[in-house]
Amino acid sequence: MSFILTAEGVVKQFGAFRALDGVDIAVERGKVTLIIGPNGSGKTTFVNVVTGVYKPEAGRVLFYKDGRAVDITGWPPHKVFEAGIVRTFQIPQIFLKLTVLENLLVVARGQRGEGVLPALTRNWVKQEEELAKRAFKILKAVRLEDKWDSPAYLLSAGELKLLELARALMAGAELIILDEPIAGVPIDQAHEVFKTVKEINQTGTTFLVIEHRIDIAFKYVDYVYAMASGRVISKGTPEQVANDPKVKEVYIGG
Ligand code: ADP
Repeated sequence: MSFILTAEGVVKQFGAFRALDGVDIAVERGKVTLIIGPNGSGKTTFVNVVTGVYKPEAGRVLFYKDGRAVDITGWPPHKVFEAGIVRTFQIPQIFLKLTVLENLLVVARGQRGEGVLPALTRNWVKQEEELAKRAFKILKAVRLEDKWDSPAYLLSAGELKLLELARALMAGAELIILDEPIAGVPIDQAHEVFKTVKEINQTGTTFLVIEHRIDIAFKYVDYVYAMASGRVISKGTPEQVANDPKVKEVYIGG
């Protein structure tokens, strides 16, 4: 088994309160891993530690890049992002007035930190062309190619989630972290979002997903971690976790 990210013994305290109490989570490369757990169980805090928003009091986070383990514990968010771990809302928000294509192009430009100067060079047009080509390939992958010229405000809730996904891909993500990707999305569109995640996953991008609607998410993910009170209480295939009495207890109160 090859991992893209491993977190070992992660502890995060807020004052005297331990939001994460020794968390071990490993994300397998090329798979979709899901973290579930009731509200307040530490899921977001865990993602915040991985993406550099919080420094843990103990434990470490390793990212496996180009065949070696890189200790990213405590790295600032922009460095984690540049390393290839992209959480969808790390990217500036979707600009509702811009078209779908423009929303992708701004991500790529922001990422390369370009100023005005390149616009004066002859390379610029060539670069723009390449970027647009890449953007179209990505839009095709998320099935938004027909909407490339629509302003983002015309998209449905599900399509906006797909656009967020496209933007993470455009940013060059190797590991995409999705925070409740189907929150507020109607059920048929929610399945579309997860189907697209799965398709993109099959072309090589790894996913770590936090999601509450496990009835939908469980159909599409490879591996599940269940958290409660800052700890991992169960892990395994969706079927194993769904049948774990410890998980049932937390969800239905035993
Ligand atoms: P989840 O994402 O599973 O709903 P969180 O990671 O958001 O859970 O929260 C875990 C616990 O940590 C909660 O009890 C929450 O109130 C607490 N917590 C999260 N962030 C902070 C913070 N910045 N300061 C104090 N307590 C926090």
